[in-house]
Amino acid sequence: MTRDCRGNLAEGWSYLISYYLPMIRRLLAHYYPGRDQALLAGVMKRLHDPTLPLYGADAPITDREWVAALRLQVIDGVEGTDAPASDLDLETLTAAFEEFTATERQFLWLSTMAYSLEETALMMNLEASTIGKARERAEEALRGKLDSWKRGLLTTNGHGLCNLARAARGEKCLLSKAYIDMLDGRITWAQKRDYEFHMVRCWHCVDVCCRIRESDHVVKVSKPLTPEEAAPFRAQLGLPEVKPKKGFFKFLS
Ligand SMILES: [Zn+2]
Repeated sequence: MTRDCRGNLAEGWSYLISYYLPMIRRLLAHYYPGRDQALLAGVMKRLHDPTLPLYGADAPITDREWVAALRLQVIDGVEGTDAPASDLDLETLTAAFEEFTATERQFLWLSTMAYSLEETALMMNLEASTIGKARERAEEALRGKLDSWKRGLLTTNGHGLCNLARAARGEKCLLSKAYIDMLDGRITWAQKRDYEFHMVRCWHCVDVCCRIRESDHVVKVSKPLTPEEAAPFRAQLGLPEVKPKKGFFKFLS
């Protein structure tokens, strides 16, 4: 698809609409509830641009990595790329959450991405109560580090923290494919230990891992659009109408 979009071919845009638009809609409904319908047309217009790096020759190849990149593109399009003022920075998180494991850090990071206990439990394949306990400990840990504390700071500062983490990529950071392998259980215990060793020192990688988890979830729960559902979006991007295919028996007659 990316090659077709890069070449501005209708096949690429058709696939973007049928397969990825339901995922975009789901992400908008999560991050901008109540505004999602109004934002969708603008997002699709911005994505209808063959020069976006999302369709470039070095764009992510696998579905879940591409959806993680798509998510950033969608949110940047709505929010702009300037980092908003944040009450929290990564250094504060590092100091407050020193004792937290790599898995617990993902519970907290999914909180910056506004995922509830139940949604996080689903993405992590764990009990909501386990996640709830870690999030409570995190609230107390933050309270101990900040002069001005209130509940829910991770979520209210989510976008700013995400931008800080994106910019904090280091030389030893892992590729997102490593987290796909981790999710799919294709790594050894030694690799898992190494990845987790890195993650407790690197918010950038916690962010990448959580965005892969989010993408994995979004890909699993989204269904492609039917041709009828896709028609108005095709019209919006100026794509030709799809003629109904002749049925097999009609073809024979
Ligand atoms: Zn890293």
